[in-house]
Amino acid sequence: MKTDAFIGLGSNLKEPAAQLARAVSELAALPGTTLVAQSPFYASSPVGPQDQPDFVNGAAWISTALPPHTLLDHLQAIEHAHGRERLRHWGPRTLDLDLLVFGDQVLNDDRLTVPHRELPNRDFALQPLLDLKPDLKLPDGATIANLRAQCPDNRLRKLPPRDYP
Ligand code: ATP
Ligand code: CA
Ligand code: CA
Repeated sequence: MKTDAFIGLGSNLKEPAAQLARAVSELAALPGTTLVAQSPFYASSPVGPQDQPDFVNGAAWISTALPPHTLLDHLQAIEHAHGRERLRHWGPRTLDLDLLVFGDQVLNDDRLTVPHRELPNRDFALQPLLDLKPDLKLPDGATIANLRAQCPDNRLRKLPPRDYP
C-alpha cells in the first residue's frame, strides 16, 4: 500500500534552486516511491538569523511504500549527499528536506513529528502545498487553504520557471 506524502524543500546556499531540482529527482528515485508532482519554487526571507541569504522553498508530492521513519532516513541521506552542514540552528544550509504530511498519520516521537510542527506558521511550506493540492487537509481536518490564509507573511516571491531546471 502506498501513502501520499508531502516533502518541504529548502536551500539558501550553492545555487538553491538547482539543489531543490536535484532533490526532487532524488526523491523520485527512492525505492517504492513515485513523484506525483512538484510545486513551483519561491524565494523567502530567512526564519531566525537574518544575516544569511534568502531561501528558495518548494514542495514535492510523492506516493511511497516506505514507512515514515525509513523515509526520514532517506531524506537525511539526501541532505547529507548535498553536503549539508548544520552550523547553527535555523542557519544557512544547502538542503533541508522536511516531512510535512504523511497521509493521514499523526506521529510524535523523538525523531518525527508529523504533520510538521511548524507547518501552520510557515507560508513558504503552506503555499507550495496549496499549489500541489488545493483541497489538502491535515489529519485534524484543518485545510491547508485556511492555514495559509491565517499564516504570518514571509514575503514569498514565486520564481519564474526558467530560474530552475
Ligand atoms: P525545523 O524543524 O524547525 O524546520 P530544521 O529543519 O532546521 O528546523 P533540522 O536540523 O533539519 O531542523 O532537523 C532536526 C530534527 O528534526 C531531525 O533530526 C529530525 O529527527 C527531526 N524531525 C522531527 N519531525 C520532523 C519532520 N516532520 N521532518 C523532518 N525532520 C523532523
Ligand atoms: Ca526545516
Ligand atoms: Ca529539517
